[in-house]
Amino acid sequence: TDSDERVRFALVGLGWFTTEMVVPALRDSDRCEIGALVSGSAEKAVRLRDETGAARALSYEEFHAGEGVDAYDAVYIATPNATHLEFAETAADLGKAVLCEKPMEVSAARAERLVEVCDEAGVQLMVGYRMHVNPAVRRMRDLVREGFVGDPVLVEGSMCQNVFEQITPDPNQWRLDADLAGGSALIDLGIYPLNTARFVLDSDPVSAQGTTRSPHEHFAGVDQHVSFEVAFDNGVTAACVASQYAQKGSEFSVTGTEGKLTLSPAFFGEAQLTVERGDAAAAFSVAPVNEEREEFDYFADRLLADRDPGPDGAHGLVDMRTIEAIYESAETGERVAV
Ligand code: NDP
Repeated sequence: TDSDERVRFALVGLGWFTTEMVVPALRDSDRCEIGALVSGSAEKAVRLRDETGAARALSYEEFHAGEGVDAYDAVYIATPNATHLEFAETAADLGKAVLCEKPMEVSAARAERLVEVCDEAGVQLMVGYRMHVNPAVRRMRDLVREGFVGDPVLVEGSMCQNVFEQITPDPNQWRLDADLAGGSALIDLGIYPLNTARFVLDSDPVSAQGTTRSPHEHFAGVDQHVSFEVAFDNGVTAACVASQYAQKGSEFSVTGTEGKLTLSPAFFGEAQLTVERGDAAAAFSVAPVNEEREEFDYFADRLLADRDPGPDGAHGLVDMRTIEAIYESAETGERVAV
């Protein structure tokens, strides 16, 4: 493709992730541009438009009405989970490719609809699993593929944050609202070890079980802590925990018949990769990349080359179905097929 070509994005939802992570990454990119800023706050949209030189600042109503449609080629959706579908529907109607944040939606049924509307309109869809461009995770995946650990046997993963310190102290935030979020610890955080296990193992879940616990009053309607176990089609078991209200931390490891690989921290910034085989062990720092820039540039390259990007909607649906299976298991106490 012509190296001067760029993809112009409409950024929908100017919250924490968009303003802190995505906008700086796009300003740094030579493949992507910010074409439009879409927000419920005109003040924020106009301020960011002026700061970034974007062509348009749009309200959600204007976006849905197709205003400013010539100012962008693709739509990035980073709003509360339950609203991803409505923005994807409009993007598809307008013939724009979609980069949708994880989790795709609040339920498998709504995520299926999201995939359908993009398919029917013939627009590309990618889900924002930034771990797929993380160099430490990719190194781990290569080592597993090359047989470094022998046959993989077990994955262990954790992802914890203190939502009141890392996100916002607001007890009314959407992450604690079942209708807007679809759940909390599992769908927001447990999705990291779940999806990374799929990516590293190149295998998909066949069944899952889990338990949730919500002792804190602000988590009355959603899961504060989750622990779950997933059986993969290659025979591996993944044992994972996630918490929305605990000391921040993340770990991810793959144990095989001959060795073990561990990432710590796994899902926040710079990762340490420890490799073990028999009695030998070594640790390497894996230099981080700007994951958002990497992800957006990759997506833009695929669009410019008229090729489908991934992880696609079908990939994201597997997580949504697994998450539903785990929530069902937490209710019934039974193991649930995916
Ligand atoms: P924030 O709460 O910081 O921002 C969400 C934004 O969505 C708000 O600022 C608002 O933007 C807009 N919005 C639209 N409707 C509503 C509503 N009813 N209630 C509240 N906000 C609304 O969330 P995050 O930026 O942390 O998360 C957004 C999405 O990105 C989620 O799907 C999340 O899972 C995902 N995410 C992905 C990460 C990753 O690493 N890939 C990391 C963090 C989040 P405005 O004020 O402009 O209208």
